[in-house]
Amino acid sequence: MHMTNHFYSRVLVGFLLCTAISCGGKETQVSEELPRVAIAGLAIESSTFSPAVTEEEAFLARRGEEVFSYYPFLQEDSVNRSRANWFPTLRGHAIPGGIVSREAYESLMGETLARLKENLPYDGLFFDIHGAMSVVGLDDPEGDFIERVRAVVGKETIISTSMDLHGNVSWRLAAHSDLITCYRMAPHEDALESKKRAVDNLLERLESGKGKPAYKAWIPVPILLPGEKTSTRVDPGKSLYAAVYPAAEQKGVVDAAIWVGYAWADEPRNHAVVMVTGDDQAKVTQTAEELAQSFWEKRNEFEFIAPTATLKESLDMAIGSDKKPFMISDMGDNPTAGGAGDVTWTLREILARPEFKDADGPSLIYASIPGPELVEAAVAAGVGEQVSANVGAAVDDRFSPPVLLSGTVKAIAHGDRNAETEVVVAVGSVQVIVTKKRKPYHRESDFTNLGLNPRETDIVVVKIGYLVPELYDMRADWVMALTPGGVDQDLERLEFKRINRPMFPFDKDMETPDLSARLVPLSHEY
Ligand SMILES: [Zn+2]
Repeated sequence: MHMTNHFYSRVLVGFLLCTAISCGGKETQVSEELPRVAIAGLAIESSTFSPAVTEEEAFLARRGEEVFSYYPFLQEDSVNRSRANWFPTLRGHAIPGGIVSREAYESLMGETLARLKENLPYDGLFFDIHGAMSVVGLDDPEGDFIERVRAVVGKETIISTSMDLHGNVSWRLAAHSDLITCYRMAPHEDALESKKRAVDNLLERLESGKGKPAYKAWIPVPILLPGEKTSTRVDPGKSLYAAVYPAAEQKGVVDAAIWVGYAWADEPRNHAVVMVTGDDQAKVTQTAEELAQSFWEKRNEFEFIAPTATLKESLDMAIGSDKKPFMISDMGDNPTAGGAGDVTWTLREILARPEFKDADGPSLIYASIPGPELVEAAVAAGVGEQVSANVGAAVDDRFSPPVLLSGTVKAIAHGDRNAETEVVVAVGSVQVIVTKKRKPYHRESDFTNLGLNPRETDIVVVKIGYLVPELYDMRADWVMALTPGGVDQDLERLEFKRINRPMFPFDKDMETPDLSARLVPLSHEY
């Protein structure tokens, strides 16, 4: 435990002031009695196996008061908002993509640090990251980020780190974080609940005077698996993560978390991790060891959560099926895992199939391919007109060159936050969604807004891994196609050089690893 001294002294001053001048009525914006809590963080998962580069604009950074808009539990009338003086600095959240340029990282980082300096000191800091950012020429960006934040805010500030379970937890990130947690569900239906837990735990430790938890156990688990094998909807992911809830509820434990880690970056930190924080050393270490052991014991049970097949087999299955929509995940270039999103390989294969050549063939929606040139031509031509232009492969052309798409413009929509402009082009019985900028298609409304009805379509092909809830609920049948791209799900096709070895499943006959808990130094002792 470690109390932040300046908070204590201000509580005392605030108390004295209040009794002395019997203050009541409306509170001023900064209340001396309340802890001072900053908010910062950058979230992205970026594949180093993709040629794409992510620049600053992709983070759609929100600054100052705008940062609150990420958090329903910190809205103006919320309980948590009134429990602290909040100092939101800068937070950015990018669609997954390729490696982040050093310039983008340094710029966003520099601005975050400058904003943090404006309102020092802080009792707490809510550090809201994903954990799988890759930056050109920099290992462990989140570890670097928190170290530089720590250098500004000092060693007393309690930092509560909130992460995606597909993030990576280096020793350095663990050391500078006083509280740390991650999602317990994949798909991440509990994302906001997890972030709220990070904030609740932080406020609780500040208000109670307990300060930093006394113990942080960290266990690296030498397993590297794609998210598509570790969904918590089905076993073994389901039972593995179900154990986290009761583990975190124990007396003497503040929080417990399991990170699957991120499989498409090649650094020593890319592997699973278990962490438990709390004040009871025995409980903290024992709980971490139980969770790590459970993960290790289940390692051979992790399988793709839906049938997988080659694209050809997937299309054969879909064409032969009377279930609709038959959904096909075009996994290798999934933009929400870090693919460039503009690989044309799958689209080319689909357009080459004779079944789709005529308008009365099986209906198929392809979502989606970036093609600014075609979008411009379609906007100029208008709905109902013919259009012909290249799409895709501007970023990732390793598997297939741009596709010349010639067809009828069926819809044009402007104003999407990610895509900017979306166009539907009909080619034979295929409706191709072409975007100005890449965009994931995760919601039914993403389709219906374009006049498409996926429920009444025979086949829906989406650049995605496992189906997100809305698509999952809509599917009549589903197969995950092992297509090429920056997030190839067949990890053994990728060339890892820098991850720790041995690593499951690459080294299948590896010996049982040391899964004993390592106690991470408290942040002020690191
Ligand atoms: Zn994730």
